Amino acid sequence: MLLSHKIELTPNNKAQTHFKKAFGCARLAYNWGLAKWRESYKNGIKSNHFALKKEFNALKKEKFPFVYEVSKYATAQPFTHLNLAFQKFFKDLKLGKVSYPKFKKKREYQGSFYIGGDQIKVIQGDKKDYLKIPNLPKIKMTEKLRLQGKINGATITQRGDKFYVSIQIDTTQEEFNRTQLPIKNNHTLGVDTGIKAFASLSNGLQVQAPKPLNRLTRRLKRLARQLDKKQHPKTKGDRTKKSNNYLKAVLRLNRLHTRITNTRKDFLHKLSTALVRHAKVLCLESLKVKNMLKNSRLAKALSDVSISTFNTLLDYKAKYYGREILRAHTFYPSSKTCSGCGSIKKDLSLNDRVYQCGACGVVIDRDFNASINLVKHLVSGVPTEFTPADMTAMLGDLATNRLATSMVETGMQQKPLKIFC
Ligand SMILES: [Zn+2]
Repeated sequence: MLLSHKIELTPNNKAQTHFKKAFGCARLAYNWGLAKWRESYKNGIKSNHFALKKEFNALKKEKFPFVYEVSKYATAQPFTHLNLAFQKFFKDLKLGKVSYPKFKKKREYQGSFYIGGDQIKVIQGDKKDYLKIPNLPKIKMTEKLRLQGKINGATITQRGDKFYVSIQIDTTQEEFNRTQLPIKNNHTLGVDTGIKAFASLSNGLQVQAPKPLNRLTRRLKRLARQLDKKQHPKTKGDRTKKSNNYLKAVLRLNRLHTRITNTRKDFLHKLSTALVRHAKVLCLESLKVKNMLKNSRLAKALSDVSISTFNTLLDYKAKYYGREILRAHTFYPSSKTCSGCGSIKKDLSLNDRVYQCGACGVVIDRDFNASINLVKHLVSGVPTEFTPADMTAMLGDLATNRLATSMVETGMQQKPLKIFC
């Protein structure tokens, strides 16, 4: 089982310079490979990353001698990434989406490169561990490596003015269990995801996405606008020097980006873990890739990104925890079906927050209704009953993780969390 642990690094100036050099080499290899791939494609030749890597290695000594200053992995791994990017492109194409791999731009305060496990050592210290990679003295990590096992590789990244290492470890199920909280219950739970409540569960619970995201997103727009006004080259040939104020604004923007990503990730991780811990079978909608593309509204676009990440997290966590994820067919009308009698309502608009059944008279929250339907449809049964004790346990778990929840039926509400920014 492969697990990663991401830890912040505290590199000195020399190490930072080395990292930046490695980021550059990784970007160079990726862009070189992409250009070659495009060229072959134009000439009707099928390319692949093995051939490209070989070609790159054959000419790097002469053309790019500086790549020898960094780990050989920095220029080898990008070809694997390129292959993944093309695989995604071909897969998306089948779904009617065009995601042709793009060239990587040089960005201030951003970058990443990979190092294979044979070139990495984690040296244990008293309070903190150290990372040792070729060509550099050991670098202090801000935390101890939590998992035990063979180190498979590591990726060093920069986000804003911070550096991180994500160490990938080949470990056992026992080691995973040792580092995680135990499984709680064996329920079957329907999960409907949306904008209003991020997740509506078939036990009546609704979980809200953290509120600051909206406000931070507005600030993001403002900072991007401010950045554009600072002195910097606006076109490729432009020789304007990047002003200090420009660089400062870039850093501010980067920090905010990181903050938004972290807030969202934190929320999605906590929610997905809570769900797999409390339910044995999770019933979800299928991801509607096509519909997602149609939406240009920012709030919707962000929520789509979150929902897609949420599904990815649930999938891998379910595997580790030995849980099951079921997904309804794309065309299953989970919102339009009555969870009471099964009749389908044709004229349900997106604004109808409450589902009123014309056939049996049921009045129920729209998303709650959908979550029950997902269970009924996928396991052909009713959702398992959460006992008050199970419910308290789940609520407790969500509260410990500071997730804002509410109950649809009783109107009971937990106070939404305030995050100060
Ligand atoms: Zn009905």
